[in-house]
Amino acid sequence: MSKSYYAKLKAELLEALPSLGIDKLGIASAEPFRELKHTLYRHRELGYESGFEEPDLDKRTDPALLFDDPQSIISIAVAYPSKLKNAPKSEPGAHRGILSRSAWGMDYHHVLRNRLARLEAWLKERIPHFRAESMVDTGELVDRAVAQRAGIGWSAKNCSIITPEFGSWVYLGEMLTNLPLPPDIPIIDQCGECTKCIDACPTGALVGPGQLNAQRCVSFVTQTKGFVSDEMMRKIGNRLYGCDTCQVVCPVNKGLNWTHQPELQPDPDQVKPLLVPMLTLSNREFQEKYGTSSSSWRGRKPLQRNAVIALGNFKDASAVPALIAVLREDPRPVLRGTAGWSLGRIGGKEAEAALSEAARHEQDGEARSMIEDALGQIKAAACKRD
Ligand code: SF4
Ligand code: SF4
Repeated sequence: MSKSYYAKLKAELLEALPSLGIDKLGIASAEPFRELKHTLYRHRELGYESGFEEPDLDKRTDPALLFDDPQSIISIAVAYPSKLKNAPKSEPGAHRGILSRSAWGMDYHHVLRNRLARLEAWLKERIPHFRAESMVDTGELVDRAVAQRAGIGWSAKNCSIITPEFGSWVYLGEMLTNLPLPPDIPIIDQCGECTKCIDACPTGALVGPGQLNAQRCVSFVTQTKGFVSDEMMRKIGNRLYGCDTCQVVCPVNKGLNWTHQPELQPDPDQVKPLLVPMLTLSNREFQEKYGTSSSSWRGRKPLQRNAVIALGNFKDASAVPALIAVLREDPRPVLRGTAGWSLGRIGGKEAEAALSEAARHEQDGEARSMIEDALGQIKAAACKRD
């Protein structure tokens, strides 16, 4: 089939995008991502990886290792909402946490897979010899590198892909194909002199333009399961899952909110939940409430730990009984130790008595050390007052 045949096919495909539920589509060549490979090596050497990535850097950067004779990569973008309508209020006695926008609505992996399956069916109907391999986020390829090459958006200083049409509020997916579709031209970087995202990052995780130290990124830390450092717990604030700060401050995103994808619209009470009831959610209740959200991929423990942290950061004394119950009864050392930290932040006689008792009985070394530190903090504060 000729070049003009594929150009026509691409033009028809672009016309069909609304019927496929896809907001933007671009084509990248399937050449190896050579520069990216160097960048990924450097990140690994510097210890900037999250550990959630595909470990094989050759697979991440060479499409030919993933697909027999790839001819192009189709990159797709689906826009998601950034504003919460009728957001419930967080107030003393009823403080709330927040899920990042990437966890609003139905799990985007599911939504993007649905769009890629529709796209595959559309192409298969027209080209019988069509073959494809689709990926979303957890695939080997780097979604953002593919999207950048495919002209979906520019690779921004905050490590997002920013599309001129939808800002960075887009989910990305891609499809390796055996079709030589004509490639798009990458979009020129439009960040210019702006550094708002780097300046606003609460932890300095954006170590340079487009360079992320995932180990310091709140978004990554909220998804871990273990103990969190004192510094990071303070920075987490009331974030239960993810962090949107470097996207929220971006001037390109200002005023942009996408409400046309029905599956991605948020339930305000799910994405801004009351914190105290989070502490006692059973596995079944967690699955019922969060099972369809991307925030559930690591189970309930990280979200519950982050809810405990958020209560400590709010310093709301009304949360003390609920935190003491976690300190005494939760079977997970991470939850007990973190509850100790939160009680130390809130302070007061009741918290101090519970911490003293817990320090005597706690069997887990790390949890006990956190509890002892919290107790020390309360005592030091009392000394200062006297
Ligand atoms: S997600 Fe949050 S912590 Fe991570 S780089 Fe952006 S602002 Fe910084
Ligand atoms: S905040 Fe500024 S520097 Fe950061 S991504 Fe947006 S435009 Fe680029």
